[in-house]
Amino acid sequence: MSDNKAMAKLLFPNITALPKDYEEKYPPRNLKEGAIVTRFAPSPTGFLHFGGLFAGFIGRTAAKSTDGVFYLRIEDTDKKREVENGAELIIKGLNDFGIEIDEGVVSQTEEKGIYGPYTQSKRTEIYQAFVKDLVEKGLAYPCFMTEDEIAKIRQVQEAKKELPGIYGEYAKYRSITVEEAKKLISEGREYVVRLNSPGKVGGRIKFKDMIKGEIEMDENILDVVLLKKDGTPTYHFAHAVDDHLMRTTHVIRGDEWISSVPIHLQLFWVCGFKNVKYAHISPIMKEEDGSKRKLSKRKDPEAAVSYYEEMGYPKGAVWEYLLTLANSNYEEWRACNKDASPDDFKFSFSKMSKAGALFDLVKFNDISKNYISTLDAEEVYSLTLDWAKDNNQKLYDLLSDDEKYATSIFAIERGNKKPRKDIAKWSDVEGYISYFYNELWDNNRSYADNLTKDAIKEILLKYREVYTVDIDADNWFPAVKEMAVELGYAGAPKEYKKNPDAYKGHVGDVAGVIRVAVTGRTNTPDLYEIMQVLGYDEVMRRLDEAIETL
Ligand code: GLU
Repeated sequence: MSDNKAMAKLLFPNITALPKDYEEKYPPRNLKEGAIVTRFAPSPTGFLHFGGLFAGFIGRTAAKSTDGVFYLRIEDTDKKREVENGAELIIKGLNDFGIEIDEGVVSQTEEKGIYGPYTQSKRTEIYQAFVKDLVEKGLAYPCFMTEDEIAKIRQVQEAKKELPGIYGEYAKYRSITVEEAKKLISEGREYVVRLNSPGKVGGRIKFKDMIKGEIEMDENILDVVLLKKDGTPTYHFAHAVDDHLMRTTHVIRGDEWISSVPIHLQLFWVCGFKNVKYAHISPIMKEEDGSKRKLSKRKDPEAAVSYYEEMGYPKGAVWEYLLTLANSNYEEWRACNKDASPDDFKFSFSKMSKAGALFDLVKFNDISKNYISTLDAEEVYSLTLDWAKDNNQKLYDLLSDDEKYATSIFAIERGNKKPRKDIAKWSDVEGYISYFYNELWDNNRSYADNLTKDAIKEILLKYREVYTVDIDADNWFPAVKEMAVELGYAGAPKEYKKNPDAYKGHVGDVAGVIRVAVTGRTNTPDLYEIMQVLGYDEVMRRLDEAIETL
């Protein structure tokens, strides 16, 4: 037996499967030319953040637009950083925004797809089979260096301003023999398995990133750790094996991983895997005091995806905004294709920002208002109800108490060519509809200060006579106009402007008084429609109340 073979047997006595067995078990996918197979591969270290959601969204969009596959892999190789329920938080984050996966981890206990397991901690034997093969080929070796030894090496390297890590003269165990290894193991010494890096000082690598373009870097010369002391893999090694066996075509991830690409390409190469294509996403940026910085988990509440849930942004609106951030031509496409499904948009990596897309909350709110304005009253009702159930009990009770009434409120100025855009998120709804519910309305009426109390009273008393149960939309405003003229107001603002001394004001002032009396507000959607929803009796009651409380 050759030394390498004996070493492999010594290190992995129980591993019998060969890489080729796994190659057979996970055959190349039978997809059409150009189909993108990609993954979202987070470590379960906490809540999903907006940048993670964005990366997942890009993966799903790229796969979907090419009839490919998008899968979720949980990279739980670093047990120290893992949080309880970490995987569930990620799954919930994706589900909440409708980012569907074709394969992968579905819940703590469930997975779907034939390329699994999709959780790295369940794949230890697979990684070991590939490492065993590398040891057999002399491309990996056991390293018995202690933490202390490594720390000392680092000090020396720092002092000499050298590249830190285990390589060249520092790779003390590169040529260890089976006998030496056997002896150290029998003494109970712990070891990791390192790559025997084929990289040369001064060597360069080049690759084409789908977003960033051509990139050239130093090739890897480090004997990186493949398996840790407990036999579990490092992220670098695990992801290479997984991306290969899961037949990934594109690695889409945050650009903090670009510096690791030389290691990854080398691992692909030594393992004999076909290279993947890379798309490294620049971080989402935010403008502050005239300069740009990264969207920050600490400073920006909107960096946590829970923010969108809590505030009640509909997932369709978040989806629209993610596409706006993703591709610079999306807004233009949307303007020309108002009713199209977002899935019809042709996503492209080359239209992604190299500098980092700019998150703009004001713009997001506008997009969300626009999105909500396209929903019908029933949808607005049911989505608000869903949100209120967990976030606003009072609103939930009021809305569910009388569905018909609530829906008729949402129907005001909706479904027409120019629907109103008052609601950006479900947490705006309570304020928006408060005057429709005496339980929510504060009964506060602040009239414009250009009319006296007596003039206001006169208008309200007169309006009580004019507003009848059966007055229809076409006759309502002419009736208000007529009464305005009778009371000495101009029938149109223009007339008033021409000769202000001849009038007490104009019809707009009169309508304004009625509006405040009925709703408490100076600005509302169509007043006639509002009064129809409130009902004749309630309008009369409010007018009386307004007169009494003047
Ligand atoms: N597990 C890595 C992370 O937490 C994934 C990197 C990759 O996508 O390759 O970001």
